[in-house]
Order: sequence, then C-alpha cells, then structure tokens
Amino acid sequence: MPELPEVETVCAGLRQSIIGNKFVKVANLRPNLRIPFPADFSSKIEGRTIKSVTRRAKYILIKLDDGSIIIAHLGMSGKIIIYKNKQNQRQKHDHAIFQFNDGKEMVFNDARRFGLMTISHENEINEHKLITNLGIEPLTEEFNGEYLHELLKNKSTNIKNAIMDASLVVGVGNIYACEALFRSKINPRKTAREISSAKCQEFATNIKEILLEAIKSGGSTLRDYVQSSGDSGYFQHSFKVYGREKEACILCSNEIKRMKQSGRSTFYCENCQK
Ligand SMILES: [Zn+2]
Repeated sequence: MPELPEVETVCAGLRQSIIGNKFVKVANLRPNLRIPFPADFSSKIEGRTIKSVTRRAKYILIKLDDGSIIIAHLGMSGKIIIYKNKQNQRQKHDHAIFQFNDGKEMVFNDARRFGLMTISHENEINEHKLITNLGIEPLTEEFNGEYLHELLKNKSTNIKNAIMDASLVVGVGNIYACEALFRSKINPRKTAREISSAKCQEFATNIKEILLEAIKSGGSTLRDYVQSSGDSGYFQHSFKVYGREKEACILCSNEIKRMKQSGRSTFYCENCQK
C-alpha cells in the first residue's frame, strides 16, 4: 500500500509531467471506485488546465485553472500512469483516462479499487468530508516535539496506535511508525500519555527524518521511470525493524519480535525499545 513518501513521490512525478497541460478528453470507465465518480466528472475537467499538484495526507490534489481540485487517493493498489502517447489498448483495471492537449495520456489504474477520484473546489476543499478531519502534516514546521506532546498528553491508547491515528497526525503508516519507534527507542506498547516531553522531541524529529529519507530514496528512483506509480516498493531495502521478525537487531543483536496491535503487525526490539 502506498504510504506518505510514495504518495509524495507520485506527486513529484506528476508535477514534472503534467503541470500546464490541458485536458482534452476525460472518461471514467466505471461509475465508482471506493466512492462513486461525480456524475459530471468529465465535463468538469475537460478544457481545464493543470495549475498545481499537492498532497494532503495521502490525498493527491490536482488543482485546475478554474479553482477546481481533483482529489485522488491510491488506496491499496492505485497507480497513476503517464503515457507519452495515447494508448490504443487499455490495461486491465484502467478506470479513468485523461487525454492531454500535447498527446500525453494519464491513466488511473487500480486492481483492488480501494482508491478514489472526486472533485472539489479551492473554496471548499478544507471543509471537504475527506479532508476536514485530518490531523497535522508531519513534515511541517508546526509539527514538533512540543506539539506532539500536547497531542498525546490525554491519550490512553498505546503510542503505536496514537501515532497512526490520522485525526492526530497524518501519513505515519504502519511501516514508518515501526521504524520511528525503533529509532526513538520507544516501546510500541507504551501508553501515549506516558511519553516524556524529551522523548516526544526525539520521536517527532525521527518521524520527519524517516519520512524524508524515504521520499529522497523514492525520488532518486523515480527519475528512471516515465510512469508515476504508487506501488513500486522501492523503499523496502532500508528498513531497520519492519519485516525483520527473528532477525538480529542492528543495535544489540537480540531477535526482532513481531506482535499484533489493532490488527497490524508491529516489529520491535524488546531490548532497545523501553
Ligand atoms: Zn535491539
């Protein structure tokens, strides 16, 4: 599943390839993905030019010259593919096709259909139901140890669940939560409100560093590809605990353990994470 760094990388790829392009023909090939496409999806987009591509949590926001914003989410398996030329043959799971004035084609492909595409407007995007309840972006200056300590101080859930709660902080998915807890030497079972102010400082810094490292590694890989794909798996080489059950901890050589927390696997070192 694409996480925040992958989505950021997809946005960077889209920025390079489609800003300034005009949609000449748009078609959704089915009425719905996770939610329905708007009834007037193509007519709202055709003839409009792309002004910017940004990200809020894991939503990709493609802003058009009339203030409309296409909201896209890759779900579990979504990909946005940019072809240099119009495709005569559709691939399996191609669900929305966007043709541009310069001959390029953008395709939303999603095998499992947990992704979505809908339309909002710059005047109402912050109140949009998909966006309005989202917590703080971890890569902003506003997100720091003090802010995190404030967020956690009344939370009686464990720290792993708290940091993955998108109404508090967005974009810290399972992989990056495990990695940031390990780097900060915090036991994933620890109650959120018991994390000290100093530990929150360290944790906030590590969350940012780990996400930025992943974005950097994704970005350097992406340059080699024409397509902007959300699921290349190119970040999976550098994990320190994630997916390393029974392997040796890189710090103390004890065995990495795995446990379930809210249905998701947590990987951690009992010895290093207190
Ligand atoms: Zn260890």
